[in-house]
Amino acid sequence: MSNIRFEALKTAWAHQPQQVPATLRASVIFSQNVFTREKMKEYIASNIVEELFDLMDNEKTLSRDIANSVAIGMKKWAMEQGATHYTHWFQPLTGGTAEKHDAFFDFDDKGAPMEKFSGSVLYQQEPDASSFPNGGIRNTFEARGYSAWDPSSPAFVIGDRLCIPTIFVAYTGEALDYKTPLLRSITAVGKAATAVANYFDKNVKRVYTYLGTEQEFFLVDEALYNARPDLMMTGRTLMGHYASKSQQLDDHYLGTIPERVLAFMTELEQEALKLGIPIKTRHNEVAPNQFELAPIYEEANLSSDHNQLLMSLMEQVAHHHQFRVLFHEKPFGGVNGSGKHCNWSLGTNTGVNLLAPGKNPYHNLQFVTFLVNVLKAVHRHNGLLKASIASATNAHRLGGHEAPPAIISVFLGTQINEALDQIEHADVDKGIIINAKKEMKLGVGNIPEILLDNTDRNRTSPFAFTGNRFEFRAVGSSANCGAAVLALNAVVAEQLNRFREEVDALIAKGEAKERALFTVIKRCLHDCRDIRFDGNGYSEAWQQEAKKRGLDTETSVPLMIDQYLKTESVQMFGSTGVLNHAELLARSEVKWENYSMKLQIESRVLGDLVINHVIPAAKRYQTILLQNVLSVKQVFSADEATGLNEQDLLLIRRIENHASAIVARVEEMNKERARANHIDDQRARAITFHDQLVPLMEEIRNHVDDLEMVIDDQLWPLPKYRELLFIH
Ligand code: ADP
Ligand code: MG
Repeated sequence: MSNIRFEALKTAWAHQPQQVPATLRASVIFSQNVFTREKMKEYIASNIVEELFDLMDNEKTLSRDIANSVAIGMKKWAMEQGATHYTHWFQPLTGGTAEKHDAFFDFDDKGAPMEKFSGSVLYQQEPDASSFPNGGIRNTFEARGYSAWDPSSPAFVIGDRLCIPTIFVAYTGEALDYKTPLLRSITAVGKAATAVANYFDKNVKRVYTYLGTEQEFFLVDEALYNARPDLMMTGRTLMGHYASKSQQLDDHYLGTIPERVLAFMTELEQEALKLGIPIKTRHNEVAPNQFELAPIYEEANLSSDHNQLLMSLMEQVAHHHQFRVLFHEKPFGGVNGSGKHCNWSLGTNTGVNLLAPGKNPYHNLQFVTFLVNVLKAVHRHNGLLKASIASATNAHRLGGHEAPPAIISVFLGTQINEALDQIEHADVDKGIIINAKKEMKLGVGNIPEILLDNTDRNRTSPFAFTGNRFEFRAVGSSANCGAAVLALNAVVAEQLNRFREEVDALIAKGEAKERALFTVIKRCLHDCRDIRFDGNGYSEAWQQEAKKRGLDTETSVPLMIDQYLKTESVQMFGSTGVLNHAELLARSEVKWENYSMKLQIESRVLGDLVINHVIPAAKRYQTILLQNVLSVKQVFSADEATGLNEQDLLLIRRIENHASAIVARVEEMNKERARANHIDDQRARAITFHDQLVPLMEEIRNHVDDLEMVIDDQLWPLPKYRELLFIH
């Protein structure tokens, strides 16, 4: 299938300027498999469709009557697309997506077989999902978790099933997924931002959160993947000496995409487009075999769903091309890791991007208002934002001298920094000048329009302003981006609410609106100076400097997670209605548990690999060398033999040293793991894994990687980096 399609495209290319056939044209196939608004109009009664659109646009609740009518139309459409089953599609805290398929098949009142899909099953289901992580919110005897339709994300058909995006909540109402709090955060920041935007324009009725993801990933050949138990079980190589040629020539970055990879991407893009994912950009990344895909940004809930969908699609399509996709943040030591840059902005129903500099001073005051509020929010909750992206896997990437450091700071670029400095130090009385025509001027240098095309790039920053949006770069490639975006939305919502209270208080005292805004902006700028950093985030000096500034410099993931339960975080999430205390407790538990489980698995796989693969290979090579030494002794005189055997004896000892060190460390590691496994408290267990297991695992790896360099290539039992990393 896949290759036929790719062949068709290639034929089209070969016969240029002949057109790309319609079946391959993006504009034709886009959303082909999605129950879009146009299709809703076609398949659902017109009075119902209007009500449905109204509730979709205005965050209203769905009535059962509407659900029933919608279900009838949705089933008809889905069956025409070949669907025989339906499933609620949700995003539990495992990080992936979950589905439980039910057939449309049923019996009618008279016992005759039929296809049935009612409003009640569209609306709500109770998947037997007691095994998903819930951090203690649901005990298994009260295992009910409900999935409920999210009408703001359209249903779609994949293969033989109709997928209905849903939230996943406990019987008692607590969120058990990423989508529920993401939706709450979108509402919270939307309301808070609308109120602030109303200082500038009363016509603003709604503010949307926009998200554009850049998904990085590695591809490896499936056969080689299957020969690496560590890749199969943990998603990364637990050992492997770097290849002589890696990324030092930067010859992979933006290079020609290998044909086999292009075939994969072409099929992937087609399938993604059909599902309404607006794929736009594809390119080679820095590391060999590393690539990136970026769809056009969308409303954040949809964009986040699309990212999840894209990831599962990538895994599926990769199989057709004998590839495996690696979403792990650091599948290969010594080679760049993968992130998922989250480009985030706020936009109004009037079509204004609140984070884009404008053409006039009034618009720019609005821009500065929102910019400064984001800075203030990120400053106040920098530790929490880091916790939102912290995981066992992302830990390998952060602070790795090629990725954002484990400190959250904001890069703004020279021009914005200069403008903000001027504003901070401007005299309020002279700062705002309103002329006779009631036009306002900022008494500071205008924010230049060229900014948009001219933002400096700083790849070392975890959170960078890029002209009309912020780019949260510290998010891990395997993460559900909802976790980071909901935290960002929530902190900004809280800050915008505080900002409005402060401005309103000044206005209530009789101050003019612009002056009040200016005063509070200046205060915010003064308070959050320390979050601004344009220098080299990789440098040692920055670690010291950040500590002095009071930014969170914690490097242990289990301790980063503590941020969720800090008083400021609990208050912030509570006041914005995004997560309550019980949910925060549960999420922290899940994060700690997830951390420990990942390390438990890695440590087991490492132990097995080393004892069953590496040590036997080392011993075999040692035996060959020993036999050689003996043979030399038999053939040559004692004096001659001593000289001839010198190198081999050195090598034998070297192998022995590594091998015995490995065996000793593995024993130690197994003991520590057994001890950790018996710790009931999730936090304490995660800390033990971090403090005790990780250093041992690193030590073992170093010995193994040294062995890889000296042992006969023919005896080495695992595919090496040079084989894994270069697709031809
Ligand atoms: P780069 O690699 O230079 O950062 P890309 O073009 O690869 O840029 O990706 C940029 C991403 O940012 C895309 O997903 C794009 O749609 C998204 N984006 C652009 N403008 C906005 C915006 N205003 N809000 C959110 N995302 C945006
Ligand atoms: Mg980018």
